[in-house]
Amino acid sequence: MRTCMICLASIEHIRPQAKKCKLKSCQREYDRVKALARYHTKKHEPKFKAERQALAETPTARYNKHFHSANARGIEFKLTFAEWWNLWKPYWDERGKSMCMCRTGDTGAYEINNVRIDTYSNNALEANNHKY
Ligand SMILES: [Zn+2]
Repeated sequence: MRTCMICLASIEHIRPQAKKCKLKSCQREYDRVKALARYHTKKHEPKFKAERQALAETPTARYNKHFHSANARGIEFKLTFAEWWNLWKPYWDERGKSMCMCRTGDTGAYEINNVRIDTYSNNALEANNHKY
């Protein structure tokens, strides 16, 4: 049974696409809800999106992401957040731009005596030296 989304009265006698009955008060309420929904989509969603993005940029979020991507690549990740953050803190603004976390010889686990923060180019050099 199709019902009015505002007052829940049956609207089976109204055209199939209708979502509300023909009561003035339901029309008004329906318009109000629609307008609110549009307002939220236009005005609030970009803000929530920005907040979500900002949250994803926090050190703890990045640590979690690094942890999971290392695991996904089959690399053991033994750094605690504190260890990881101590390494990154001085270079934080350069993370993902010119600096990355490198493992010595590009092998082994991500653990405190096997990692350093270095430039992408040095890391690539090391990876090539290791290969050949
Ligand atoms: Zn109604």
